[in-house]
Amino acid sequence: MSHVTYPVFNGTNPRNWITDIEIAFTANNIGADAHLRKIGLAVLHSGIAKQWYAALNPKPDTWTRANGADGYKELFLTKYANDANRTQASQQAYLRMQRVGESVDQYYNALQENWTEIGAANAMPEWTKINKFINGLIPAIRQRVMEAAPATLAAAVTIATNCYNAFQANIQPTHVATDTAIETLTAAMQELVAATQNIQNNNNSGRPENNNDERDNRPRNNFPPRRRQNFNNTRCFYCGNLGHRIAECRQLKYQREQEKRRQPWKRDSDQQGKGQPRQ
Ligand SMILES: [Zn+2]
Repeated sequence: MSHVTYPVFNGTNPRNWITDIEIAFTANNIGADAHLRKIGLAVLHSGIAKQWYAALNPKPDTWTRANGADGYKELFLTKYANDANRTQASQQAYLRMQRVGESVDQYYNALQENWTEIGAANAMPEWTKINKFINGLIPAIRQRVMEAAPATLAAAVTIATNCYNAFQANIQPTHVATDTAIETLTAAMQELVAATQNIQNNNNSGRPENNNDERDNRPRNNFPPRRRQNFNNTRCFYCGNLGHRIAECRQLKYQREQEKRRQPWKRDSDQQGKGQPRQ
């Protein structure tokens, strides 16, 4: 019998933890009336909430509310799902954009997790969710979804997913290896092997010890010069325009600068990575 691992509560996203652990209960065939077993499993995987449960008096004897008394779930959410993490989730949803290389599904799941965390009682109206979802899409997809003017969130997700798939199919090289592709690849590998051997030879036959001239001790770059590629027919995966790759996209660069401006804490960590001391 296969067994689904139970998620561990890490102090954040309490509503998502409850959702995930209930999915695991179902997956592991724990019956709807196995209340004490569910509570036991939840406590075991509740991380920092173990102490809270230990001190709880009286303890719940059902998983969910029954006979006028709160179950574990309600008591847990009352304790941990507070206004602070609601606000945090709402801000995360507000700032969340589809990331480069991220599928529509991944982006939508991330939004949904934040929306779950806001809670059913404070749920956003659907039109707000549609707007948020569309605004965060990468520009090339956003434009087409806006043109389609979807009436429901489900429709917006479907259109965006179709666009994304069509887009991927257009710009990705086919995975069918043709003879020429294999020849090109073999030639490139041979060049690489030759270049690596050259580097090794240079290193081995180099002057024994000459620390005065560091440059001569370094491996020489014997790789063939990179061929200048023509990007006229390349479509940018980010903005959808012809003539450049995503690495050279100005819209993406601008977008990233805007994000840094909105999230100054990220700017700090970015700079630390580049060895610029903080003033
Ligand atoms: Zn672009």
